[in-house]
Amino acid sequence: MSVLENIKKVQSSIEQAALKAGRNSSDIKLMAVSKTNPVELIREAYDAGQRLFGENRVAEAQEKFALLPDDIDLHLIGHLQKNKIKTAVSVFDCIQTIDSRELAEKLVQTSKDQDRVLRVLLQLKTAEEGKKTGFSSEEEIIETAGWIRENSGIKMEGLMTIAPFTKDEVQVRSAFARCRNLQEKLMSLYRDQDFSVLSMGMSSDYHWAVQEGSTLLRIGSAIFGYRS
Ligand SMILES: *Cc1c(COP(=O)(O)O)cnc(C)c1O
Repeated sequence: MSVLENIKKVQSSIEQAALKAGRNSSDIKLMAVSKTNPVELIREAYDAGQRLFGENRVAEAQEKFALLPDDIDLHLIGHLQKNKIKTAVSVFDCIQTIDSRELAEKLVQTSKDQDRVLRVLLQLKTAEEGKKTGFSSEEEIIETAGWIRENSGIKMEGLMTIAPFTKDEVQVRSAFARCRNLQEKLMSLYRDQDFSVLSMGMSSDYHWAVQEGSTLLRIGSAIFGYRS
C-alpha cells in the first residue's frame, strides 16, 4: 500500500472510532510520525495533503525537513536533550515533550533569544518502561504549567502521553484517562490558559485514545509501514 492509501485508511478508521465515541472527527488531528523514514516518503504524505508531522530526533528532523516545504507543522515527540535545545527551537513549531520545569525555563529563554513563540505540550509519564520519559508527578506538571503561565516565550497548548506498551485495553485506556483527568484539573486551575491539545494514541492504540478524548494522534507505522 502507498502512503496515500495508508493515510486514507487511517483517516477513515479515525472517523469510525470518532463516530463510535460520539465525537466529531474534525476535533481529532492526525500527525504523521516520520522518524526513520526518508524524505521521499514524507513528501508522498505531504502530497496527500498531510501537514502535521512528528519526529523524535532533532538532528534527523533538521536534515530532512530542510528539504521540505515551509507550511509543515513539525513537532518534536522524543526526549529533548539539553545540548539540542537551540537547534530544536529553530527546527520545531511545537515541542511535545517538556518533562521538567528546568527544560521549560531553558525553552523560554531560548525562544526569547530566537525571538519566537514556541508552542509546547507537557508530557505526563503514564508507563513504567524506562525509555518513556515525562513528568512522573502530576504536582510538578501543575507547578510547571503555572510557571509557564507567568512567562512569555512559550505557548502552552496541552498534554502528551505515551501509554504502556501492552495490548491490555484496561491498562492503556486508564493511562489515557489519567492524562485527560489531569487536563481537566489544569483547565479548572488555570482558566485563562490553553490546555486543549491531548496528544495520545499511536498506531497500536489510537482507537482507544479516541475513546478517551485524544485530540492529536501520533501515527507512524500505520502510515509509513512498519520500521525494521
Ligand atoms: C514512534 C512514535 C510514535 C508512532 O508510533 P507508531 O507505533 O509507529 O504509530 C508515536 N509517538 C511517539 C512518541 C513515538 O516515538
